[in-house]
Amino acid sequence: MLVPGRRLLTTLLQAPKRPFQPSRNMRLVQFQAPHLAGPRLGLESGSGGGVIDLNAFDPTLPQTMVQFLEQGETSLSAARRALKAQLPVLPRSEVTFLAPVTRPDKVICVGLNYVDHCKEQNVSVPKEPIIFSKFSSSIVGPYDEIVLPPESQEVDWEVELAAVIGKKGKRIQATDAMAHVAGFTVAHDVSARDWQVRRNGRQWLLGKTFDTFCPLGPAMVTTDSVADPHNLRICCRVNGEVVQDSNTNQMVFKTEELIAWVSRFVTLYPGDVILTGTPPGVGMFRKPPVFLKKGDEVQCEIEELGVIVNKVV
Ligand code: ZN
Repeated sequence: MLVPGRRLLTTLLQAPKRPFQPSRNMRLVQFQAPHLAGPRLGLESGSGGGVIDLNAFDPTLPQTMVQFLEQGETSLSAARRALKAQLPVLPRSEVTFLAPVTRPDKVICVGLNYVDHCKEQNVSVPKEPIIFSKFSSSIVGPYDEIVLPPESQEVDWEVELAAVIGKKGKRIQATDAMAHVAGFTVAHDVSARDWQVRRNGRQWLLGKTFDTFCPLGPAMVTTDSVADPHNLRICCRVNGEVVQDSNTNQMVFKTEELIAWVSRFVTLYPGDVILTGTPPGVGMFRKPPVFLKKGDEVQCEIEELGVIVNKVV
C-alpha cells in the first residue's frame, strides 16, 4: 500500500526533508470484515499494520467512532488497555477500512490556511479564518473510489490535516482547545473548481460536497500520540508524481485558533471533523491547470498519521 515511489525519492534528494516515520501509537479505525457483524471499531497496529478488534476485546464498547468519542474517557481507557494487551491482529487483507469517523454532526473546512498556498495564488494571508463546510455524506473510506460527477469538468486534489473533536464545547479558549481534540487523520478535500468558484453564486459548498469528496483515514491517531501536529510533513501524489509537498508548520491558523474561532459560532460535538486547509500544488493553479481524470490514483500522506489511496472513477 505504501508506494512512495521513485518520484518522491527524487524530490527528497533535491530538497532533503525528514522521511515519513511509522507510528506505534494509538491509531483508532472503523472497519468491516466478512466474518464479523457490522462496522466495528479497531486499532491499527502501526501505520500500514493489521487491525485489533476492539469490539471483540470489550463487547460493551460502541461500534462507531462518534459513539466511542461521546463516551469519552471510559472508552479511551478501554482502548488503552487493548493497546497494551497481546491481542490477535486481523491481517490487513481480511478487513475493509472505513473512514475513522462516519456521519459526524459537521465537517468544517478552512480556506487559504497555508502561507505557501497563499503565495502560490498571490493573495495575502487572511486576517481571520475563512470557514466553509462539506456535508458528512461526502465522507468515504481511506481506499474508496472518488467518483467524478458528470456535472463537473474541474475536479481537483487537496491533501489536508484533519482534527477530530473528542469533547463537546462552545466558546472554547485557544489555550484549552487541544483538550477538545480526540485525534488527527489524513483528509482529502476533493474540490470541483467550476462549482466552487464560478457556479452556485460563488458559494463554495456544492463544489466541495459531491458524494465521495471527503476521503478520510486510515486511522484517527490520538492527540497524545502525535508529537506536534503543527510540524508534520504533508504530501499529495497523483499517479505517483508528487504534486503537493509541504509541512503543517505553514498553517496560518493552527488547530487551537481554528477551534476557538469556529466554536464562537457553533457548538462542536464529539466526532466533528475540522479540515485545516491545504498546502500549494493544487491542479487549479498549475500552468496550464490540471484536473483529475478517470483512472487517476491520488495518495494523500501525512507524517505519523499515514496515507490514504483513492482511485478516481
Ligand atoms: Zn481545502
